[in-house]
Amino acid sequence: MDQIAFAPPVDDAALHELRREVRAFLAETIGDHAPGQRIRSWMGNDAAFSRACGEAGYLGMTFPTRYGGQGRTSMERYVVTEEMLAAGAPVGLHWIADRQSGPLLLQYGTEEQRREILPRVAAGECYFCIGMSEPDSGSDLAAARTRAEPVDGGFVINGTKVWTTNAHLAHYMILFCKTEAAEDRHGGASQLLIDLSTPGITISPILNMAGKHEFNEVSFRDVFVPETALIGTRGGGWAQVMGELAFERSGPERFLSTFAVLVELIRHASAEPTREAKIAVGRLTAHLVTMRRMSRSVAGLLQAGENPSLQATIVKDLGAVFEQDLPEIARLLVPRPVGRAGQSDYEAVLDYAILHAPSFSLRGGTREILRGIIARGLGLR
Ligand SMILES: Cc1cc2nc3c(=O)[nH]c(=O)nc-3n(C[C@H](O)[C@H](O)[C@H](O)COP(=O)(O)OP(=O)(O)OC[C@H]3O[C@@H](n4cnc5c(N)ncnc54)[C@H](O)[C@@H]3O)c2cc1C
Repeated sequence: MDQIAFAPPVDDAALHELRREVRAFLAETIGDHAPGQRIRSWMGNDAAFSRACGEAGYLGMTFPTRYGGQGRTSMERYVVTEEMLAAGAPVGLHWIADRQSGPLLLQYGTEEQRREILPRVAAGECYFCIGMSEPDSGSDLAAARTRAEPVDGGFVINGTKVWTTNAHLAHYMILFCKTEAAEDRHGGASQLLIDLSTPGITISPILNMAGKHEFNEVSFRDVFVPETALIGTRGGGWAQVMGELAFERSGPERFLSTFAVLVELIRHASAEPTREAKIAVGRLTAHLVTMRRMSRSVAGLLQAGENPSLQATIVKDLGAVFEQDLPEIARLLVPRPVGRAGQSDYEAVLDYAILHAPSFSLRGGTREILRGIIARGLGLR
């Protein structure tokens, strides 16, 4: 079990001071937000808020200063992310760029790509989407069929991506595609930086269960991109995309998606707490505190330059169970009055959470896939 050790998280006075600063920033910028807004958090979009985060130095925090970043640590970034999510800040527009696309470009991008894109990400002015899933390739990413044919001076892309969160709002996509034939099914793949205003790209909305337009189908028909769009090594996309997924799975967003439900449940139940409510809230809090400890440990391991992808997978799996259980437990403890006019804060967060919770164990890798990765980490596969 040594390979899945969770080292004690780093903590010091400077991190506490940063936490206080972020809380003051949030009180000033979103202090008046209602719980019904806060529950949206990393699906909530607000361009002015994203820019304010950039001005405050809360984006691209770990990027070097020469790329517009702050040169700060993973633990500092963790503190800011956790405070933003716990407060339900509308971080959706800059979320993907700050969490994974920017760090991927920092690691594999060309100097030109870094200089062009990273300062805009750090300023909260440049949004990204993730071009991995396809109609016949979700969990099995290696089966992706979108093809970028090498031609004189660049690539011509044909194919379709699906479930692409915020493609309709993003400036760029990091596209995972095939650039050459290979015997190994993980070979021949590459990642391309796609400007979504390029001719030949069609972004069509897909409504989710809540009737909201959050993800899309994105089709490419003979889309030409220059060779400068290549990120990292041609044919080396598989290792790169695995690194990108590690950024995607490691943060506190994987257990804080329904945090507003817990806050409202406690507020609602504390007037006359029943025995069942006390037991349930105690148990949920114990789970939350444990996952938070594990997630902070992951941030500490990242800071130490280690690869905690196995630990991050465990946090995501446990986190999705917690995020899905929370609205269900709340619904049973404090049922919503049927047919009542108007919506209380409690009802607003519960409605949103119930309709979105089924997706928590799909996005970023399904439960079965995550458990397969954990089993492999233990040498069982
Ligand atoms: C809210 C949301 C946002 C998303 N945003 C994006 C995005 O921005 N960009 C993007 O590229 N994708 C995005 N996705 C897609 C997401 O990554 C995929 O839905 C996910 O990887 C599963 O792929 P699939 O839907 O094709 O299901 P499938 O891969 O077809 O899986 C169907 C079922 O079979 C199970 N299964 C599949 N293979 C195995 C196996 N080997 N062993 C055991 N069980 C297996 C799965 O666990 C699942 O239960 C998003 C999804 C959601 C729900």
